Amino acid sequence: MNFDHLRRRLDELKAQSRYRVLRPRSAVGTKFRDGERWLVNFGSNDYLGLAGRGQFIDHSSDGIVAGGSGASALVSGWTDRHEVLAQTIAKWEECEASVVFPSGYAACSGTIATLAGKGDLILSDALNHASLIDGCRLSRAQTKVYPHRDVDWVEQFLLAERHLYENVWIVTDGVFSMDGHIAPLRELASLSERFAANMIVDEAHATGVLGEGRGVCHALGVQSKVAVRIGTLSKAIGSQGGFACGPGVVVDYLINHCRPLIFSTSLSPMAIESAIVGFESLKSEPWRREKVTQLARQLRCQFGIDCSAPENGVPIIPIILKSDIDALSLSQRLYEAGFYVPAIRPPTVPEGTSRIRISLSAQHDEAEVVELCGLLKNELSIS
Ligand code: PMP
Repeated sequence: MNFDHLRRRLDELKAQSRYRVLRPRSAVGTKFRDGERWLVNFGSNDYLGLAGRGQFIDHSSDGIVAGGSGASALVSGWTDRHEVLAQTIAKWEECEASVVFPSGYAACSGTIATLAGKGDLILSDALNHASLIDGCRLSRAQTKVYPHRDVDWVEQFLLAERHLYENVWIVTDGVFSMDGHIAPLRELASLSERFAANMIVDEAHATGVLGEGRGVCHALGVQSKVAVRIGTLSKAIGSQGGFACGPGVVVDYLINHCRPLIFSTSLSPMAIESAIVGFESLKSEPWRREKVTQLARQLRCQFGIDCSAPENGVPIIPIILKSDIDALSLSQRLYEAGFYVPAIRPPTVPEGTSRIRISLSAQHDEAEVVELCGLLKNELSIS
């Protein structure tokens, strides 16, 4: 066996400061231990602080929640608790139906790849998440990538070429994971009405946080115009897995055609239980989203970042440094001061836009955020 070509490629990544390693860490709330040190974690997507709760109690007949579901959903892996979760999601999202996937990645890539067929067009934002991009690549539709949030570009393209395609799908993240931007959903929804297109919006970073917890489509009042919404249970919901929701016919179609749903073992019962509890928390503990959005507004205000609601409440705040080395070394200096703020480099973000990305949680103390802010202002010479 000869893997020299792989070794050479890894060496190239090392030379470019783009080599990644897995670092084992034990996490407790917003703190994690790295060897002997405890750090404040500003690098998780646990926006509401729900991920750390152990909550796998007694819903099956013998009181034990199984670790594995044992089979794919269509074989025997869809339990009554999967159904409860799917119905909870549909109700929360005000959709006719929903289905649960083994991961958000599978939900996003699978839904797009399945719905957009031969002869169709997908219009996809340039900064969409990899799971959406991979869905476009796997589908048999033609994909056009439009410049980030450029509604005029989409309009011009549809004016010129709509007639060439059977169905058109406008695919976008609702909240962009690396920038914290919100997609222009109102404008895209009105274009989709005008040109008889369908929208698919990824709610991954908005579920539980924006729109009273119902997501960004609700926050912008376009939930009835965005027929298909996809998302994850692994961020604010504090569990694992993904979902797609929309009209009953769309969900039926996915159940019958979507390969990651059909050919992968269904979500673990433990993840199902923690997701159900997560959705209950969205209703019973609104303080969590109020706190995390308040921290986000406060941090933006400290940095003089001016944006209007609801974007100012998005708990993702990148600081763009351009070069990989600058992002890595700032992240390292923060690490030494006791804060974990990950450096994000290409290919996760476009060339020349390496950054550190602060992710906030309702579990952060205000004092921790103030301290991080002070350190960063010092580092970046902001008064
Ligand atoms: N969409 C977006 C925008 C994401 O950021 C992520 C996760 N990073 C996913 C989908 C995939 O979700 P999961 O981690 O549950 O597979």
